[in-house]
Amino acid sequence: MTQINKNYLNLKESYLFFDIAKRVKNYENEHPGKKIIRMGIGDVSLPLCPAVITEMQEAVAEMGKAETFHGYGPEQGYSFLKKPIMEYYQTFGVFLEEDEVFVSDGAKSDLGNILDLFSKENTVLIPDPVYPVYVDTNIMDGRKIIYLKADQDNHFLPMPQENIQGDIIYLCSPNNPTGAAYSKAQLKEWVDFALSHNSLILFDAAYEAFISDDSPHSIYEIEDAKQCAIEFCSFSKTAGFTGTRCGYTIVPMALHFQDVSINHLWLRRQTTKFNGVSYVVQRAAKAVFSAEGQRQTKKNIEYYKRNAKLMADTMERLNIWYTGGKNSPYVWIRCPHQMSSWEFLDYLLEKIQVVGTPGEGFGKNGAGYFRFSAFSSYEDTIEAMERFYNLFQLNELPDLTK
Ligand SMILES: *Cc1c(COP(=O)(O)O)cnc(C)c1O
Repeated sequence: MTQINKNYLNLKESYLFFDIAKRVKNYENEHPGKKIIRMGIGDVSLPLCPAVITEMQEAVAEMGKAETFHGYGPEQGYSFLKKPIMEYYQTFGVFLEEDEVFVSDGAKSDLGNILDLFSKENTVLIPDPVYPVYVDTNIMDGRKIIYLKADQDNHFLPMPQENIQGDIIYLCSPNNPTGAAYSKAQLKEWVDFALSHNSLILFDAAYEAFISDDSPHSIYEIEDAKQCAIEFCSFSKTAGFTGTRCGYTIVPMALHFQDVSINHLWLRRQTTKFNGVSYVVQRAAKAVFSAEGQRQTKKNIEYYKRNAKLMADTMERLNIWYTGGKNSPYVWIRCPHQMSSWEFLDYLLEKIQVVGTPGEGFGKNGAGYFRFSAFSSYEDTIEAMERFYNLFQLNELPDLTK
């Protein structure tokens, strides 16, 4: 008889975006013609930049001619992409070897796949609230999870505590959903903690390109982090590749557990279970690092960051507690008047037709908080924040009885 992986039955169904969509739909049906502004999207909205499109079109044309056709490529990615990634890391003082860079079809897959290398007996530490992928991939394997409490006291950046031990530690900085980013000193504490307890850090750097201050872009900016950390990065938010699919994972040569090279295990895993990212997409990703590509993608990031700043400034003016908005496309706010995150969703929808994401959807410590994303248009962001400002400037207490 076929036995299923019963751990899957322990997964909680995620109704978050489904529930939001349902409430918005209901409102729309009852109030046709009202303009709803969506500030909840976690997907980019600007198109791929011209440098990327030109390169991709050239690569497509090559695929149509016998002399320049490409079949299977190296599972770990082409040198023409790994080299610019290495050069990019050098801009923040990190020197990588080519064999430490693994091109992927995005950070999400590798964040899940990496767990192949580690025993189900490991205990994992996961911040709460957080990107739900870390939790679900570990539930699928049946690992024990300990949550790291993120709250206003630690500015949603949980720090290591001696009484909370784990073998695998997830860190996401700049963070989704809170937008908070660790400083170098804070990340050093985590690296020291991992080194002293022989633990592994899985570092998600998907939003590194949004950093505006001196927060580290890579965990390897911290000395000796190569001995304890794997880093995941992605072109999704950096260059609008959410639908194109490309990312990269750094597995340092210096990383060993139980005298086994983790780089070697990962190479073995990838060459067995993965046949690489398409040639055309890797060429597109390469173009992100050209002078033109950097200028154009940075321009798009600045566009989102201007939206984020507008939202952060609005919270500032209203004296509403928030994090993020500076090093990330997210602003994470405390719901005013002690509203729960779902009450706040309904309240904003009813009063000003602005939609965001209830913090509770990212973990139990997200209760009472709300995420706005900067991926809407500038015009919509202005309009949403004007409506928001006027609503709370009146300081009207919500009627929650409705
Ligand atoms: C969007 C996002 C990613 C990127 O995932 P891809 O699979 O590369 O699209 C990774 N981590 C976090 C926290 C994200 O929000």
